[in-house]
Amino acid sequence: MDDEFLLLNPGPVPVSEAVREAMAEPMVSHRSAAFESVYERAQGGLDEVFTRSMLSGRSTASDGTSLILNGTATMGMEMAVANLVDPESELVALVNGKFGRRFARIADRYCSVTRVEADWGDSFDLDAVADAIGHDTDVVTMVHNETSTGLLNPVSAVGDLAREADALFVVDGVTSIGGDVFCIDDWNVDVAITDSQKALAAPPGVSAMYVTDRAAEVAHGESAPFYSDLEWHLRKAADHQTPFTSAVPLFRALAVAVEEITEEGLPARIRRHRRQAEAFRRGFAAMGLEPFPEARGVTVRSNTVTATALPDSVKEAPTEFFDAVSERNVSISGGQAHLGGEIFRVSNMGRLSSEEVLRGVRTVGEALGDVAVDADVEAGIAAVEAEL
Ligand code: PLP
Repeated sequence: MDDEFLLLNPGPVPVSEAVREAMAEPMVSHRSAAFESVYERAQGGLDEVFTRSMLSGRSTASDGTSLILNGTATMGMEMAVANLVDPESELVALVNGKFGRRFARIADRYCSVTRVEADWGDSFDLDAVADAIGHDTDVVTMVHNETSTGLLNPVSAVGDLAREADALFVVDGVTSIGGDVFCIDDWNVDVAITDSQKALAAPPGVSAMYVTDRAAEVAHGESAPFYSDLEWHLRKAADHQTPFTSAVPLFRALAVAVEEITEEGLPARIRRHRRQAEAFRRGFAAMGLEPFPEARGVTVRSNTVTATALPDSVKEAPTEFFDAVSERNVSISGGQAHLGGEIFRVSNMGRLSSEEVLRGVRTVGEALGDVAVDADVEAGIAAVEAEL
């Protein structure tokens, strides 16, 4: 067994030593100049990540603000919706997985919601999306990289439809931003949300949001949730602070993590993520495993989260397979909700090495061997090596 623990879950992901060390520094007040400079560093790095996540490295966003939130991305999802709608508003939510569904559930509490649904793992029918978005639509929500299914959704096409209807477009880029292409302006995104513990490779507990000036104009403080008042957060962000006590060690860790991203450079980082996801896909395929989902229609397979169908025999007793993976000191994820016992998921978000991708594929192959599935581990390893 390899001694070192390998975390391959789709978040939290491994963090660097420098990121870990940043959390151990002596405490300072969240109203001090020392903290403001941490916020400013994190915000500067996030500006790059939110607006330059393209293979060309050019900027795709003009006017907006990066915010850091004292809570995970679900807080950001709720904050975006709650600040942009009122009870009379019409929101269209695209749902083809657990996180798209979460957006719809959040919105149910604040306004009238129309769901455009596809089976988890399936592609959206863009004609159905176009029919649902009309001139009475105020906000459209969607998830870019659906972590629950390992699927990349067509944000660009839906952004065009939202803009034609003059609706605000709120996008969960939690498992894409920092690891894959994400274009605020080109895709007509008004609010983008991400989590610290995913492709940003920071510890969990805080999240980030990019708010365009167009969205900021609509946010109205009076009806906003007190803790998640967007106007208030934007005002304080101008002074590099949060409205309430900041999670100081987590902000420090985030500042270092985003600096590591800008050091690597976004085009290089995105290319590495794509290569590693392809290596996972090819490695598992070479061992005889079927992808989940099959890429169909306007969706493609994710470059950050690889979902794979469990062989039928494993579906009958999936725990034995997952135990066999854990025994090798590797952590992977199963499926969520009704996909539990149907699939397994691994992540290459953050800062995985080629050796770690290789170990992930080898571990899955060996664990399958333990539960009497005849997986060709050597073929899996050869496929990964050829890709990396
Ligand atoms: N959206 C997506 C696509 C995610 O993968 C996650 C976390 O897994 C979230 C949102 C937010 O979850 P949380 O608030 O628990 O960090």
